[in-house]
Amino acid sequence: MTKFADLKLSPKVLKAVEAAGYETPTPIQAGAIPPALEGRDVLGIAQTGTGKTASFTLPMITMLSRGRARARMPRSLVLAPTRELAAQVAENFDNYAVGSKLSKALLIGGVSFKEQDKLIDRGVDVLIATPGRLLDHFERGKLMLTGVQIMVVDEADRMLDMGFIPDIERIFSLTPFARQTLFFSATMAPEIERITNTFLSNPAKIEVARAATTGENIKQGVVMFRSENKRREASEKRALLRAMIEGEAENCKNGIIFCNRKIDVDAVAKSLKKHGYNAEPIHGDLDQSRRMEVLQGFRDGTIRFLCASDVAARGLDIPDVSHVFNFDVPGHAEDYVHRIGRTGRAGKSGTALMICTPRDEKNLEDIERLVGNKIPRLENPLASKSSPAPEAPKDDASEKPKRTRRSRKPKAEAPVEVKEAVETPAEQPKPEQQKRAPRERNRGGNKGNNKGRGNQNKVVGMGDHMPDFIAKSFDDRRDS
Ligand code: AMP
Repeated sequence: MTKFADLKLSPKVLKAVEAAGYETPTPIQAGAIPPALEGRDVLGIAQTGTGKTASFTLPMITMLSRGRARARMPRSLVLAPTRELAAQVAENFDNYAVGSKLSKALLIGGVSFKEQDKLIDRGVDVLIATPGRLLDHFERGKLMLTGVQIMVVDEADRMLDMGFIPDIERIFSLTPFARQTLFFSATMAPEIERITNTFLSNPAKIEVARAATTGENIKQGVVMFRSENKRREASEKRALLRAMIEGEAENCKNGIIFCNRKIDVDAVAKSLKKHGYNAEPIHGDLDQSRRMEVLQGFRDGTIRFLCASDVAARGLDIPDVSHVFNFDVPGHAEDYVHRIGRTGRAGKSGTALMICTPRDEKNLEDIERLVGNKIPRLENPLASKSSPAPEAPKDDASEKPKRTRRSRKPKAEAPVEVKEAVETPAEQPKPEQQKRAPRERNRGGNKGNNKGRGNQNKVVGMGDHMPDFIAKSFDDRRDS
């Protein structure tokens, strides 16, 4: 078995590895570190959870320890598809580069350019960035990529999903031809293959087994769910999720709940909270500081359930996740592999449960074909009860549009609600009141005993003795 000491890493890096508590290199590390240290291009087919971050950061730190950074000309570049993933790589760098005196800058969206500019100006050894923000800096003339000796592309398949491939190609073309490239992807889609054929030169190819196909430590299951009532389907599905969580009892220490759509991420988090669960949503519409806050809360255990979309969760390294719940069957079979790979990390056991509606059956088949196994069908925990337990009526009601409240403040974009507002008797001024209103302004302190005329024809200053002709001419004037 390969040992870290055999990998020709610098003594400082070996010390950092020891401090991290790693005893033996993972397969991707054992495979990628030696050719990387020889200066070769590397094509790593591996996903998060396999130790791939260290497989490129450790040799980079070793190689960069010789030489110095120049202003605005980073010596190495790591591209990651999401802000979280980039931040995570930066964190890894900080851990492994202790004592190496290397400077680093993290360029991600949602953070001010000014601070990032300052760091670049000072000169950085390692620049970690998302493609969009990197190109923004480049276009502002603040950055030159001609000094990049080592370029890493992490999670290339996710870059492809997110439409970053043209950006990646452009960035490649801005770096020197002679750079060393370390390229990582969980899968080799044809487009990824094309990029690697174009930009990598005779790479050492290291492929490590998928977590899903080797993940005997992940217990998987799927509940087939069909609702008889379309209108209540979403609420019944959320009730089923809660029952599945409860069914896991204390085994479920924490969990990531994946939904396919952001709107459902929010709805599920809101519903869980309403039912007393400690849950928060995380998706691309939240601002960066909020996403970081939620993630940190989940890491340190103050948040038990993270409701997430694929983009927000891809690549996140959260070591201690006991459960993954697929509230929706993912549309791409690959995403199932990524999702369940959040649990059962570093040899720990994990559980991945999923809800499948009749609409999702085709996607479920695709997943089973990809992972090469049939996912065990689990009994619907609600089916055994006399009546299903969809969300409590209170919850249901509160998730419906709040008609009464909205009806008071009709919004232009909610014509239906406006109509309802007009039709609400309590809100609708009676025709009689409407008529009366202008005249009431004339009433002054004359508190109505205008015999037989009600309040209608009161005129200030006449007391109870207003002659009939005055009242008549008043009405005539008004009606004309
Ligand atoms: P990654 O695939 O880079 O996201 O890493 C997944 C997890 O494995 C991280 O929590 C790392 O700290 C951990 N890890 C990386 N390398 C090793 C190793 N050689 N031994 C044990 N754990 C490791």
